[in-house]
Formats: sequence, C-alpha cells, structure tokens
Amino acid sequence: MKAIRRFSVRPVLPAPLRPLSELAGNLRWSWHPETRELFRAVDPERWRACGGDPVRLLSTVPRERLDRLADDRGFLRRLTVAAGDLRDYLSEPRWYQRADTGPDCGPDAGLLPAAVAYFSPEFGITGALPQYSGGLGILAGDHLKTASDLGVPLIGVGLLYRHGYFRQTLGPDGWQQEHYPVFDPNEQPLHRLREPDGAPVRIELRLPAGRLLRAYVWRACVGRVPLLLLDSDVEDNARRERDVTDRLYGGGSEHRLLQEMLLGIGGVRAVRAYCRIGAHPQPEVFHTNEGHAGFLGLERVRELCGPSGSGLGFDAALETVRAGTVFTTHTPVPAGIDRFDRELVARHFGDDGELPGVAVEEVLRLGAESHPGGEPDLFNMAVMGLRLAQRANGVSTLHGAVSREMFAPLWPGFDAAEVPIGSVTNGVHAPTWTAPSLPDDVRGMKDTELWDLRRGLRERLVQEVRARLFASWRQRGAAGAELGWVDEVFDPAVLTIGFARRVPAYKRLTLMLRDRDRLFDLLLHPTRPVQIVVAGKAHPADDGGKRLVRELVRFSDDPRIRHRLVFLPDYGMEMARRLYAGCDVWLNNPLRPLEACGTSGMKAALNGCLNLSVLDGWWEEWYEPDFGWAVPSADGAAADDTDRRDTIEAAALYDLIEDQVAPCFYDRDGSGVPVRWVGMVRQTLTRLGPRVLADRMLREYVERLYAPAARAQRALVPDAARELAAWKARVRAAWPGVAVDHVETAGAACSGEEPEVGSSLTLRARVGLGGLTPEDVEVQAVAGSVDESDGIAGEPRRSPLRPVEGPGPDGRWLFEGPLVLDRTGAFGYTVRVLPAHPRLTSGAELGLVAVPPQDGDQEGGVLMR
Ligand SMILES: *Cc1c(COP(=O)(O)O)cnc(C)c1O
Repeated sequence: MKAIRRFSVRPVLPAPLRPLSELAGNLRWSWHPETRELFRAVDPERWRACGGDPVRLLSTVPRERLDRLADDRGFLRRLTVAAGDLRDYLSEPRWYQRADTGPDCGPDAGLLPAAVAYFSPEFGITGALPQYSGGLGILAGDHLKTASDLGVPLIGVGLLYRHGYFRQTLGPDGWQQEHYPVFDPNEQPLHRLREPDGAPVRIELRLPAGRLLRAYVWRACVGRVPLLLLDSDVEDNARRERDVTDRLYGGGSEHRLLQEMLLGIGGVRAVRAYCRIGAHPQPEVFHTNEGHAGFLGLERVRELCGPSGSGLGFDAALETVRAGTVFTTHTPVPAGIDRFDRELVARHFGDDGELPGVAVEEVLRLGAESHPGGEPDLFNMAVMGLRLAQRANGVSTLHGAVSREMFAPLWPGFDAAEVPIGSVTNGVHAPTWTAPSLPDDVRGMKDTELWDLRRGLRERLVQEVRARLFASWRQRGAAGAELGWVDEVFDPAVLTIGFARRVPAYKRLTLMLRDRDRLFDLLLHPTRPVQIVVAGKAHPADDGGKRLVRELVRFSDDPRIRHRLVFLPDYGMEMARRLYAGCDVWLNNPLRPLEACGTSGMKAALNGCLNLSVLDGWWEEWYEPDFGWAVPSADGAAADDTDRRDTIEAAALYDLIEDQVAPCFYDRDGSGVPVRWVGMVRQTLTRLGPRVLADRMLREYVERLYAPAARAQRALVPDAARELAAWKARVRAAWPGVAVDHVETAGAACSGEEPEVGSSLTLRARVGLGGLTPEDVEVQAVAGSVDESDGIAGEPRRSPLRPVEGPGPDGRWLFEGPLVLDRTGAFGYTVRVLPAHPRLTSGAELGLVAVPPQDGDQEGGVLMR
C-alpha cells in the first residue's frame, strides 16, 4: 500500500492572484465570511464540491478560470480588500495589547504572560482540517480562534493524525461503518517547521529498548495563533513509531501512552524550537486541555533539573512548573480519564527512558491514585494533571462542584468545597458558529422579519437534510429511483428539533425512543407535528454506542415516520453549523450531572434556536424560561436506577414537547407569526447570546488563570522555588507533630445563659506545631450553623486566630481570636491548622490539615440549640 509516494504540487497562481494563497494559508478564512465568499466566487461549483476548502479549491481550479480572474477588476479589488484586511487583523493591537497596562508594566514586566502554550489532543478548527472527535476538540479550536481575535499570544500544540478521527457511514442495516481517509499534510494549509538552514525540525523521544520516536512539526496559522502539530510519520521511524500519530483516540494503551508522551514531552520541545527559530517569546504559562498532555509538566521539570536548566532539584523544579501550569478537567465520566498500568509508565520513564534526569519513582508518585479507594496499580493522568498544576478548573459552575467532589479524596480532611478546583464556563466562537445571514443585532427587527429569517434558515436545513439523506441511502445501497420519497422528507413549516453529538452512553441518544407510540404521536400530530434530525458518531471501539445508532437508524427507516425523523451520518463541523442554524429547538438529555458543560446548545442559541435540555452543564447556569425549557431530571431518588430514570425523564420530555414547545411554536397571530416564540428567539439572541461567547471565556482564563500563573511563575526565580520546595518539605515532615490539643471559649456566652445573636466571645486554642512556627501555619476558627450530626452545615465562616503565647515548655502555642455569633439557632465551632505560605493558592494546596482529636470533649462544640 505504502509503495506509492504521494506528491502534491502546489499550484502556481497568476501574479495578481497570489494574495489568494496568503488567504488560503491562514485558517482565518474559516471564520471570516467575506474571505469565504471570495473563494466561492473563484469557482462556485468547485467550492461546493471540495467542501469549502480553499487549498483544495486552488489546486483544482482550471488554469483558464484563473487567467480570467486575473483580468477581472471587480474580483481583484475584492481580493485586495480581503488580503489587506487579513494583514491588518494580524498586526493591529487587540484586546490583550490594550489590557496589558498597569503601574508596573514595562516591556518585560507586563501583568500578562508573554505567551501561553495551549496543549490539546484534538483541535476542531474547520471541517477542512479534520483533527477532532467532538466537544473537547471544538472547544480547543474555539479557544485558539478567540485568542487570535483578542490578541492573546497563544501557541497551540497538538498531534497531526494521519487519518484524523474517522468518517462515518451506515451499513444497510444501520450499523455504523468507519472509514479512515488518508490525510496528506502537503494538501493542507500546513507548513513544516524548519530550521533556518531549511532542514525540517525533528523532535526525538527515546523509548525503551533503544527505540526512537521521531516527529516532524507542522504549523497551521489560526489567525494570529500558531498551531504546532507533531507528526510521527517520519521515514526513519520504525513502523510502530511511524504509526504513533495514525489516528485520534485509536489503538491500545501503549499506543495511547506514546501519543501522550509525544504530545506532552515532544510538544514542549516543538514549542521551544518554534520560539527559538522565530525569536518569539517563550511561554510563561502552559495550559493543558484535559489530562492527555500532562507529560508536558515532566518535560519542563527535566529542563529545569538538567545541566542546561538552572540545575534545580526535582522538588524546586516541580514548584516552578506547578506555578506556571493550568489544568482544565473536562469530564466526570471515568472513561474520559486516561489511566495507564503503572508498569507501562515505569518502563517508559525508566533509566533508559526519555527523562533521565527525573527519577521514575517521582514520575510514578505524581500519577499514583494514592487516595483511599484508588487503584495502586494504575497511573492516572488527571491526578498527575492536578499535581503538576497549581491552578485547575472545570468547565461550568456545576462541573466545578462535581469535580471538587470527584477529586476530593486527593485532599483528605477537606470539605469538597475547599478542593482547589475552580471553574470557567465554556464558550463558543460566534463568527464560526453564527449563520452569516443573522444580523449582529436583532433589536431593530420586526417580529415578522425575525420569523422570516428563522424560516429561511429552516428551509436551508431541509434542503441539506434531503441531500445528505439521499447520499446516505445511495451509500447504503439504494438506487436513486427508489428514493423519490426523500424529496418529501421534512417540511419547512414544521417545528424542527435537533439532536447531534457523540454517542457515549450518558448522552442518551435513544432516550427519545423510550416510548415509541408517544414519539409517533408527536411526529405525526395532525396540527402540531414535529420533525427531528439526529446525528452522532460512536467511538469505533464502542459497540454499545453503535447499537444505539443502529436502533435509531432502524426507527428512522420506518416508512410511517421517515419523513419526520432522520439520522444523518458523519456528524462534523460543517453539518453542525447547518443544524444549529436551521433547527428551532436544540435537544440535550444527558444523565445529569455527567455533561461537564456541553457547547452545542450554546452554538444553537447564537442562531436563535431555543434549548430544550436537562439542567446540566451550562444550561443549569443560564437557563431562563425565556430561553427554552428545562427537562426535569430524576437524579434524586432514582439516581442509580438508570432504567427508571430514563422512563421518568423521557415521559417528562414528551410532555414538555406536547404541552409547551409545540403549542408555543404553532400559536400564530393573524399574520402567521408565533409571537411568543419569536419573543423567546429574541431573548435568546440578545440576552443569552452574549453570555455563551468564547470571548467571555477567554478573558476569564486570562484574568483568573493565565495572568496569576504567569506572575506566580515569574516570582519563583530559582532561589524562591528552592525556598518554597524546602518549606513544603519541612512542613510535610513536621506535620505529624501538628495538633490542636485544647479549645475553649471565654466570655458572656459561657456563663450558662443563652447568648444573643451578634454577641462575641473569645476562642482559645492550644496548638502543638511540631517545630514549625506560627508563620508557617494558619490556625483557624471554623464556625457556623450545626446540622443534625453536629457537623457544620453549609458554608462555614473561617477566621484566623492569633498566636498570643508560646512556645510553652511542652512546645505548645496558645492562639486566640474572637468568635462572633452571627447566626441564630444551633451554632457550632471548631479549630483547625493549615499550612500557610504566601505562594500557596489555597490552604488546601498541600492536602494537610490538623483538627482536634475526635473523642476529646474540647473539640469545639455546639453553643446553642
Ligand atoms: C459543538 C460540537 C460538539 C460538542 O457538542 P456537545 O453539546 O458538547 O456534545 C461535538 N461535535 C461537533 C461537530 C460540534 O460542533
């Protein structure tokens, strides 16, 4: 098979058209409608045929056509404008350049990082660069595009998969089939990263048994943001190593480990090479989008420990790396988290492995599930991610809380609320996901105009559905002559519901099929029918998911309803855009709370499509009755009985559609406009739209994570890093001797009478510090309302106590402070000791805490009942 060498010849454009290759070479065309229009004008037919891919377009347009365009003054004028616009876009100051001002802001002392490296296993930038599987990749793509729009100096880092993810078709019986077209980087808007002498940059990783993994680096331009993609398809690699970057999320565990080593370790080296060659500033912050790229932290530890680094020891290097690393966790679903056999990791990071300066025991410790209930034989990438990053976040408010619960065992002794994982709610890149026909502001539009606009988008979707369905049936073996019915599929006047996403079990692709009779009734309602378009890929190894796809396809094959429910194969970005724009309602029915954020509903909202969703992820945060409907979730009583949950939640979904959604859609005024519906569309566009933007998300990342991380990392000049590491070691060693021995209160409240709310008393605690000093710790009063089990309910109030005496002959200190009784009812308090250091982001950072012994009677107490 591989005997043929592929060549691709880049076209030579007539001189006046040269700016076209500049425009094609920067992926900004993918979110810049004017540039796309220009490419379409080059050859509308071919533009459609090549799926809107400028590089392919330019390599197939006949010479005569190009010569004609080179003489077309109207076209050349547009070309000049578009090329000028791109150059301006690439060079003019944007939000980030204006934001980086402040009192201590010189050229080298900006408040904001000089550069941020953003690592992700997948990037969904355009359908023309199919290097994504689903939400994680699309989010990464939107992150880069938005960084470009805002001028944030991001460098994207990923892998270039020779076959991308996979293309989906259906067998005659509805079984998913996977295809892996070859993806030739030479036919893409990608440039090989080269040394100044023209030699391609090569990254090398040493593997066990003397094997070597080499990779080239390709660069894509995402507006202002470079995206570096590592590619192991290097002639000198052995077959196995050559195939490391064959597919996204394919292969077994060793294959996956090698991909992640290449992404993390190789990725840092690619960034170093890119910055060195172009004299770009090196990143001050490294952001890992999910745990897959976590090895980047180890590579940076190695850099700092090694002879060419500052010769830091492991612990000090780790502190430096942590300070400048941001880890975003994306899923509470265990299957979404990589866990490797410890042995496998040990083998790859052993003495002859790639990171000789870093002891294998240290590596293993970082990924160890050392918490109660953890698997001692597994190496957990998310756990390592959290240990290598001082700042971590989930992707919606709810997901932040769910992640704190989920990872709480790593911080024993702390309430889940104190686990140092925050959240930044995802957002979506409006220029990518908004239909070009939508105006920037609909406030001035009349109801009839807005309704016409929505109808126009629905009509386009109906055409798209028919075309794709026809192609799918042809592919499944039907003859064109049998497919006349496809022209009658979908009706531009009917309420259109969309459901498209990957097919892991928790997203419940087939929930709508739970009660088929009810679904039939909804689809075939005599006056208020609905039509549903469904799409989604199951992971190739997930037979359960493929069964769900087949179930849905078979249902949709039923001649009685096939004009009202369709399954479209090969869900991807280009299809997604049409669906979000053309549907009236976007349906999402995950098993709450497993949808970390979900972004497709946000993209739908940008187009005035209303959401109908379980209150999970982002929808829990921003749902309002004006924006759509909340599908009730039975995650209370029936939480663990998924079968019962499905029944309850499906029934609620049918009820909602029948009683609320459809009546609202079909409730028309004299001129045929559904006034209430259009009102909701308007609210969605004007009030929800601005919240779901990736602009908002990126600013939050910059202000709350990147900027503090850059400052923390700068402050850790080598001596400070050593000092911090030594302090942590000292505190850890001394901690067994830290104890709260005695707690007492003094003041009016203790005289036996019921104290009044607002009064205060003095809290005293005798604390052993095991040789630490009061500066090393914070002794806290923790107070609040008491629950039935005498624990402190809800959010307690925490206030520091001051040292007033000590150390006594027994080594103990006396700490003291006021305790204000600010709540009526049962009021309780206790005292605890935490490590304290100005460079910690949270008292929980070290996972160390000392509380009074469980049995003593002086453990704090309940003051009022
Ligand atoms: C937005 C998007 C997703 C993610 O959608 P979720 O709602 O998070 O499941 C997946 N695939 C494509 C093509 C998308 O555009």
